[in-house]
Amino acid sequence: MVIRVVLGLLLTIAAGLIVGRRLLTLYRIARTGQPVGGRTPDPRTAAQAEAVEVLGQRKLLTWSLPGAAHFFTFWGFNVLALTIIEAYGALFVRDFHIPIIGAWPVVGFLEDFFAVAVLVALATFTAIRVKNNPKTEGRRSRFFGSHTGAAWLVLFMIFNVVWTLLVYRGAQINTGNFPYSSGAFASEFVARLLAPLGTSANDVIETVALLLNLAVILGFLVLVVYSKHLHIFLAPLNILFSRRPNALGPLLPMYSGTTPINFEDPGEDDIFGRGKIEDFTWKGILDFATCTECGRCQSQCPAWNTGKPLSPKLLIMGLRDHAFAKAPYLLAGGEGADEAALAGVPDAAKAEAQRPLVGTSEWGEHGEAVGGGVVDPDVLWSCTTCGACVEQCPVDIEHIDHIVDMRRYQVMIESEFPAELNGLFKNLETKGNPWGMNASARMDWAAELPFEVRVVDGAIPDDVEWLFWVGCAGAYEDRAKKTTQAVAELLHLAGVSFAVLGEGETCTGDSARRSGNEFLFQMLAQQNVEVLNEVGAKKIVATCAHCFNTLKNEYPQLGGTFEVVHHTQLLNRLVREKKLTPVSPVDGGQRTITYHDPCYLGRHNKVYSPPRELVGALPGLTLTEMPRNAERGFCCGAGGARMWMEEKIGKRVNTERTEEAIATGASAIAVGCPFCRVMISDGVGSVQQGMEAADQVQVLDVAQLLLQSVTRSH
Ligand code: SF4
Ligand code: SF4
Repeated sequence: MVIRVVLGLLLTIAAGLIVGRRLLTLYRIARTGQPVGGRTPDPRTAAQAEAVEVLGQRKLLTWSLPGAAHFFTFWGFNVLALTIIEAYGALFVRDFHIPIIGAWPVVGFLEDFFAVAVLVALATFTAIRVKNNPKTEGRRSRFFGSHTGAAWLVLFMIFNVVWTLLVYRGAQINTGNFPYSSGAFASEFVARLLAPLGTSANDVIETVALLLNLAVILGFLVLVVYSKHLHIFLAPLNILFSRRPNALGPLLPMYSGTTPINFEDPGEDDIFGRGKIEDFTWKGILDFATCTECGRCQSQCPAWNTGKPLSPKLLIMGLRDHAFAKAPYLLAGGEGADEAALAGVPDAAKAEAQRPLVGTSEWGEHGEAVGGGVVDPDVLWSCTTCGACVEQCPVDIEHIDHIVDMRRYQVMIESEFPAELNGLFKNLETKGNPWGMNASARMDWAAELPFEVRVVDGAIPDDVEWLFWVGCAGAYEDRAKKTTQAVAELLHLAGVSFAVLGEGETCTGDSARRSGNEFLFQMLAQQNVEVLNEVGAKKIVATCAHCFNTLKNEYPQLGGTFEVVHHTQLLNRLVREKKLTPVSPVDGGQRTITYHDPCYLGRHNKVYSPPRELVGALPGLTLTEMPRNAERGFCCGAGGARMWMEEKIGKRVNTERTEEAIATGASAIAVGCPFCRVMISDGVGSVQQGMEAADQVQVLDVAQLLLQSVTRSH
């Protein structure tokens, strides 16, 4: 017993010191971040998030096999915490049991059940890792660039925890020290194997396996705090302080410290975006440290999947590694510190401090930036802000916020951005639309309609129910104009009263904001909010998914709160209410159609069903889904202001998406956003190059399909 107690306590003290020191360092690193505003968790939503995301493992379970394996490992850890208490108790009292519940057979059963479940989960993880081995699968593997050696070591350590546990429990049964008379089926099985060795051998095995079990647990604890498995402790914290319901939809206003920047009179010390790692908030640092390197984000990222250097996983890992490597320099006082304070800082940390946050990188063999800039400009500007990474991330990391914050610094402080954005910014500043068209042409689309479209002049009249937000694409882009006309016709047919702002509309500023030009966004948005409030707008319908998102989710940040719907939602409602009745088969016959989810309608706003219901209501149409649809929809390549930038690296995102759509065998691709429409139409043009236009797959807005079916019935 003395050996047990002495060795057990010595191991615990040693591990405690190592772990405690590491946790203190991690805390100090997190403190190098800026303060963050608006993250005080609301107790109810926080409890709900912890219950659903942490205890229920919701996001993990969306990938059934690895999700189930993780579920059982997670719950295995929780239930097996009881066995740790029992092991410590057994150091002092050989037949120790936890008071009250410690001899209940059901507890013994649960402990053994989860021990076995963890073993099965480990076998599953092993199979998944072998199948997705980055050495053979290359970039296609979601583990490409992850620290796979550490991951294997962790699996091995967990295996050691379980087998030592079962052996010491089995020996305990044979020595008469086991607290459970029945239920612990796996321990009983091991006991039967060990029984022939006799009681004294089982005595020794019990002590050795008990100490081994504790040693492995403590070793595992040390490994956890020094590896990506830190997420075991950090994930619940990161989820606690995450944006709710998630970091999709609106972008956050620009904060300096805990207050939003006042662009009309910015403070002298205001930090504009993130230009160095210490500009990130502590929540940002927590995000970086929480990454599990699972690669779910990477597997869905349109940039990564088309050969660009951007992987959301590698981006987050790179920021984490940089934050940790630069930490000794920052903790010694950073830029403002004198030489004496920096004397003890390792050279490696000083060298790391010299790396620009954004700058041309030197690449490692796994696509990671090993020198030069921490984030390469090609990484930063490849993001379409599609949200697939945020949607997938099981620990609620907020990739888009970090990317846009770095873009903000590049645009507003460094003036470093893709040259094509110059034209966009100039057009938005001078003409209020990305195309640089005159405001007087905003109503051209209405000229061909057989009825007059009302233009708001002063306050919106009482008999007008909806303000139809046309958007710049809807007003100026030829293909999008057809959608605008179709929606106007449908509303007219349904007897819904609506009006437009005409020349009173300005670009909502989505592209300006997502390209990092927050100043320009604020200018455009304030102008629009002023106009909308002046005319007394209450209910707005928009055909552009980007306008829809900005009006609905971002204008409240500037004092513009309206009921905003997407045209597919309103049209679907009108069909349900029988105000529109689709009767004629579209194009007169049986057609198969596929639907492309716009990221800013789907993932960012969770509008998945209305467009599908609409298509489903059209006679003669059969909807066939692409493999990547709804939450896992694949971007068209236009979001995040990518619409206005050249795509020089890898395969074009729109080509990849169009090929997927065409592979369904559909004769038409339905869309619900003018940006998607442009990108997918261009994609069809290049994928089906050389084909007669009539034989090419058609790209149509859902509203046009509905109009075809409805008008023929009138
Ligand atoms: S938002 Fe989309 S494009 Fe950007 S990193 Fe995430 S998955 Fe990739
Ligand atoms: S960012 Fe999230 S989804 Fe991506 S690898 Fe890290 S934990 Fe996984």
